[in-house]
Parts: sequence; structure tokens; C-alpha cells
Amino acid sequence: MKNNNQFPLFQDALTRLDVAAKHIEVSDKTLELLKTPFRAIQVGIPVHMDDGSLRVFIGYRVQHNTIRGPAKGGIRFHPSVTMDECMALAFWMTCKTAALGVPLGGGKGGVIVNPRELSHGALERLSRGYIRALADVLGPDIDVPAPDIYTNEQIMAWMMDEFSIINRKSSPAVITGKPVALGGCLGRAAATGKGAYFCVKTLDYQLDWGGSGRKSVAIQGFGNAGQSLAKSLYADGYHIVAISDSKGGIYSSRGLDIPRLIEWKNQLRSVVDYPSEGGGPSSQEIELISNEEILELDVGLLVPAALEGVFTKKNAKSVKARTILELANGPTTLEADKILNDRGIHIVPDILSNAGGVVVSYFEWIQNRQGEYWTEDQVNRKLKEKITKELEKIYMLKQRLHVDVRTATYAHALWRLNEAIKWLW
Ligand code: NAD
Repeated sequence: MKNNNQFPLFQDALTRLDVAAKHIEVSDKTLELLKTPFRAIQVGIPVHMDDGSLRVFIGYRVQHNTIRGPAKGGIRFHPSVTMDECMALAFWMTCKTAALGVPLGGGKGGVIVNPRELSHGALERLSRGYIRALADVLGPDIDVPAPDIYTNEQIMAWMMDEFSIINRKSSPAVITGKPVALGGCLGRAAATGKGAYFCVKTLDYQLDWGGSGRKSVAIQGFGNAGQSLAKSLYADGYHIVAISDSKGGIYSSRGLDIPRLIEWKNQLRSVVDYPSEGGGPSSQEIELISNEEILELDVGLLVPAALEGVFTKKNAKSVKARTILELANGPTTLEADKILNDRGIHIVPDILSNAGGVVVSYFEWIQNRQGEYWTEDQVNRKLKEKITKELEKIYMLKQRLHVDVRTATYAHALWRLNEAIKWLW
């Protein structure tokens, strides 16, 4: 797989390792091992549609590395899912679990589908079909999926149930992000945003919020991750001046009413319809902006929380934010990363800033295996402790190595991976 261009996103992702490896002592064996996923599977998933026709959907599951524990990573339902994307996302999970010091490996999967075009029944058949196709390579000690873009706790519930039926035993620990009533973890739904919020709070004193003293934030993508970060920041007095979804964005220099917008969005409406239909008297102050414009706003904190590759060499020169907090996986291309770094823009990289999701997924997996459940306060306390501790170590490494935060985070992860790999190879 090395030296070929069949998987460009994955190859780009691997470049981060080579950069980090220049700054720490790491064996060639470790680098060689991380360049190829342990397992990458494509499946066909036949689904009976409501009109009686049959459609076969293509699904993927990649287990990039399982040296430090079972593979862990989300399942994405999206029309643009590819094997390349799953390989890159699984690789990032290997690095993320190592950076955060959780004893899990890296996995990821997806199905090429627009779930909004499916009925409830067809979505259930597809979700169960995905598990039937992959049941042999999933399990609490093998590979533990979770939600990602356009998958949710309902889909996790069907998937867990299907796996339990196939194995003729209750298997809650096979999947995380389940409803709490089915063994899910309190606080899991908000965990990715909460983890990012703890990063912001830990770094607050060194973030450059600009001259006005107002802590202005723009968030591209207003789903699970974007909403939960917005909610925590809003409750803490930050001004969320812009948000967006797949249809476009909205902007108000006075700050948006985030609780109302979350309610609006969760009625399956787009944020772009909010000013005309749901904004109330303050809606005159809200302007419509595009998903490209949101990335160029002059804000203290810019948060990509949707898809990969949104910062490119084309738009990196126009970014005006002082800090980028990568809530989405892989939002910054290699070329953009260099431009943004050269311009002195502080980037908190994805494998650190969005790690709250996998940390609390790990907590859910522990609780399922122990049969003993924690309170939401316990979960949030443990999450805060974990994120803060690892973030501080990473920023100390950054100082010591004189590198950017992304390189320091990869170096930190690589060190842990190297420590594990050297016992076996
Ligand atoms: P989600 O499906 O809940 O929300 C995705 C959001 O992005 C929606 O608001 C959607 O309208 C918007 N969107 C889609 N295409 C867009 C586009 N072209 N431009 C702007 N917005 C667009 O997904 P999520 O779980 O919030 O995941 C978002 C990102 O966060 C992904 O990169 C995912 O891998 C990452 N992430 C999520 C978690 C988690 O626990 N949910 C954990 C770690 C990382």
C-alpha cells in the first residue's frame, strides 16, 4: 500500500507520522507497521426497500491497528464514504487513542448512502445488514464501533441488537454511543463537544481572542459535535457569532441564541431557515452566509465541525481566525496546514480536540464490561481529567521540541505506539 496513490487521503494522513518521527526516537518497525491497516474490508449489504425492490449498499470497515487494544471508531452513513476515507479515519483513531492513552486501537467504517433518502424501516434494515455482513470481525475484544456523521443512538441500538441476536447473547460492549436505556453512557452524546470545551478552557489564557475582548466563535457544522461544543461555550458566555449546516450558515455580530437554534435544528430544519421562520424579533440582525464565508470570518475561534478537507491551499490565506479548533476529523489539508502555521494561526488538531468522543466511548465500554454504571458527573469529571492531563503533556512536548501542536500530538501518540510495538517486533 506504501507508495501508491490509490488512497490519497490515507497517504496524506501518514505524512503526519513522518513529520513527528523526525523529532522523537522511534523505530523503523513502528513506522513500517503503521503504514498499512491490519484489516480493510468492503461488503455488499442487500436491503429490501419499501416498494419491494432490492438495493445493495456498499459498506466498509477498517481496523488500522489493534496493538494497544480492540479497534475503536465510528460508522459513517454518507454518500461520499470511500475506502480511502475509512483508512484515513481509522489511522487517525489509532493516533487519537494513543495520544489520549486509552487502551484501544484504531478503526472506522461507513456505508455509501444518504440516510435521509431512506425510510425508518429501510434504515433499520441497512443498519442490521451492516452488522450481519461484518459480525465475524466485530466484538467487544475485536472492534467496537460508534456513531459518526449521520449515524446516531437509534442506529447503534439496532446494530447492538443485531450483533446480540447473531451471537445469541447480550453484547452491549460491542458498540458505544447507545441509548442510555440500552447500556449507553450518560454524557456520551455531548462528549465530543465537552472534550473540545475542556481544551478551550485549558488553553483560554493563551488563546488570542482579538482586541475587542469578546470571545467570538464560528462553527461550521451544527450536528452532534458542533452543537454540544456550542452549548457549553454559550453557557459559559462565549459569543457564537456564526454556525452552519450542509445548506449554508447564519451570522450575527451580537451572537446567536444557541439553545433556540439547537431546538430548531433538532426539528430537522436547516439553520438557514431560522432567520425567516424561527428567529423572532432578533432575526433582523442575522445574515445568511455561505459555508465558504464562515471559514473566513474574523473570530477568535474557528471550529470546523463537519467534513474533511475544508481548509485548502485556496482558502488558507483568507482565514482570519486566530485559533482553529478541529472538531471534525481531517478538516485541514497538508498544504493548508503549512500556510496556516506559517501565518501563525494556532491549530488545536483533531486527534486532540475531538477526542472527547472516544474517551467517553471507552468509559461506556468499561461500564458495559463491568456491569456497573457511572453518574454523568463522574463521566464528565473523568473526561475533564483525561483531556486536561494529556493536553498539558502535549503542550509541554510542543515547547520542548519547538514544533506546532499537531506535530507534538502525533509525537506523543507515536511515542506510546512505539512503546507498545517494541515489545512485539
Ligand atoms: P452529524 O451528522 O451529527 O453532523 C454533521 C453536521 O455537518 C450537520 O450539521 C450537517 O448538516 C453538517 N454538514 C454536512 N455537510 C456539510 C458541509 N458540506 N458544510 C457544512 N456543514 C455540513 O456528525 P457529527 O457526529 O457532529 O460529526 C461531525 C464531525 O465531527 C465529523 O468529522 C466527525 O468525524 C467528527 N467527530 C464526531 C464525533 C462524535 O462523537 N459525533 C467524535 C469525533 C469526531
